[in-house]
Amino acid sequence: MNDVVLVNCTVTDARATGVPGTASGSRTTEAGAAGGKGRIADAAVWVRDDRIAAVGPRERILERTGDARPLDLDGAYVTPGLVNMHTHLSLSLPGEGGDSVKNMTAHELALYMADGARRTLRCGVTTVRCVAEKDHADFALRRAIESGRAIGPRIFTAGRALVCTGGHGHEGSDTLECDGADGFRRGVRSQVKAGADLIKIMISGGIAGKHEKIDTPQLFSDEMAAAMQTAHAWGRKVTAHAGPAAVIAEAVELGLDCVEHGYQLTPEVAKRMAERGTSLVPTLLVTRCKEFFDELGVPEWMQCRSLGAGPRHLESYAMALDAGVDVLLGSDMPPFWDFEGTNASVRELECMSEGGLGPAGALYAGTLGPVRWLGADADLGTVEVGKYADLIAMDADPLAGTSAFRGVRWVMKGGRVVRDDRSGWEKP
Ligand SMILES: [Zn+2]
Repeated sequence: MNDVVLVNCTVTDARATGVPGTASGSRTTEAGAAGGKGRIADAAVWVRDDRIAAVGPRERILERTGDARPLDLDGAYVTPGLVNMHTHLSLSLPGEGGDSVKNMTAHELALYMADGARRTLRCGVTTVRCVAEKDHADFALRRAIESGRAIGPRIFTAGRALVCTGGHGHEGSDTLECDGADGFRRGVRSQVKAGADLIKIMISGGIAGKHEKIDTPQLFSDEMAAAMQTAHAWGRKVTAHAGPAAVIAEAVELGLDCVEHGYQLTPEVAKRMAERGTSLVPTLLVTRCKEFFDELGVPEWMQCRSLGAGPRHLESYAMALDAGVDVLLGSDMPPFWDFEGTNASVRELECMSEGGLGPAGALYAGTLGPVRWLGADADLGTVEVGKYADLIAMDADPLAGTSAFRGVRWVMKGGRVVRDDRSGWEKP
């Protein structure tokens, strides 16, 4: 049996942040000194099999751990693993880089995605929410990870995203074209049948479609309503790729659970999102990642559209924060991608923090917030007894600065260490 006790560390999770809805309401270091909820200095975390058996001040825990093997974390800060809520492990943007993914055989694609999953976990991202993957390969990948045949994060997935004929992203096998209310009902059912945990719909144009604009409305009300009613009847939440305020406003009233991007929100729409409990995954990187686009050979028209939308996108994000919308980490870029000195997941979290959320809000947006949206908070999201031991360690304090996550040097998923830089060991 796996039986280890992590020592020489400070445990920090989102309950220490004072973010509304988290337990202690007390803030950062004072709570630490007092040993408050969600922040424990000189802590020990006892891990048995895949879950946390005890967590608390070191001396108190070590009295109980018996023969458990101690694992010294050398003064690290320990948080729950990150959760990236907008990933595509089979992403193919316009351009040569994307074409090489698009032209892969099914076998090549599966191996490519498995490699991406391994890299993602190594970054400290222990859970992802896939929001459109090619050819249902995500379900095969999830089964492989769950059965131990592949290494990667926990996967919650939408399967294929539902689009209207010719709608956003219609070009690839990561979307399914549907038309009319019946078409969207069938689309939802077909993804649920394949194993989808949630449903993704494309309700407006976007950055990557030459034939559309960011603010092109793409679904009629009856189509959106049909998708949401069907998904909700099956207990699946719905998230929507969406840019313009008017389209988002309509979808929010129809019961949408989450907005992706939200490039052009207004204060009024943001207020309604907050009131209705609609979350926002802002994906700030997608309008500020020229280096990434250059690397993939993304054409000029798309780069102009993306980077041109950047300032309004940031304003939109600020409006959401002002209104109190629940914002969640999501990179859209492959979550492990090397970008601006770190990986895309951490860089996105830094952008969210710098854009007004701050380090405490960012810790919530990268861990407990997403887990709550996924309905997985009984198992994930905090360092608490009974939850999966999905943990990461870094030398700097993430509540002092979000860039602390750049220094993730140790990763555990389900009680198994998958990265430990100090020992020079990495699971192959
Ligand atoms: Zn996306």
